[in-house]
Amino acid sequence: MPPPSPHPEESAPGPKAVALDVSAVPVPEPFYCRRCRRALNIRFNNLGMIVEYLHAAEQRGQTSDHRPEPAPVTEIPDPIIECDFCSAPDAAWIYRCANQVTDARRVTARVVAVGDYQARRHAARVRRTDTEHAFTQAWGERWSACEECAHLIEARDLYGLIGRVADAMPAKLTRGTHLMRTRGQLHERYSDVFNTLAPGRGRIAPGHPLGVWTQPPGEAP
Ligand SMILES: [Zn+2]
Ligand SMILES: [Zn+2]
Repeated sequence: MPPPSPHPEESAPGPKAVALDVSAVPVPEPFYCRRCRRALNIRFNNLGMIVEYLHAAEQRGQTSDHRPEPAPVTEIPDPIIECDFCSAPDAAWIYRCANQVTDARRVTARVVAVGDYQARRHAARVRRTDTEHAFTQAWGERWSACEECAHLIEARDLYGLIGRVADAMPAKLTRGTHLMRTRGQLHERYSDVFNTLAPGRGRIAPGHPLGVWTQPPGEAP
């Protein structure tokens, strides 16, 4: 493998540029927070090491008043399993799909032409934006769903699900121009969920936070 290109503008940006073998990252079971008993999401650095835990609800635009205290879900007495889609408090089903990751990049430099800068200062046109890998968000293989969202998943109603979830989101994510971006992100994420959905689903029951499966998960016929 050649070393990374020293000229960021010549390397292809985006997920493909990051060499992270997610299949090598063991995610044996979901992590939950000991303090609030709710689901956590994991962020990796580009070496595949866990760098941060985040309440799953924070990914959906909600706020939290404490830092996550991660533990495997089976160690949490009476976990509160919310719908991973619309945040409804009572998830009824667990679906499984391919572990999905999104790469976030942070801007390290904005390059402007010298002449342009001298003439226009902060109005100077940005010629090039350099970015670096900030973190990889792992969404996990298991998605919990409330009865209503599960109906839409069973019907493979992608737009119905996006609409329902956007309606349930805080206004700051769906106000004005934010709505189109939010819907775009949901479309990308849920398309992958639908495309890689494993057969069957697990019914969440007391003492069975990973669901009771009528059909073995992940075993394609
Ligand atoms: Zn918590
Ligand atoms: Zn839901």
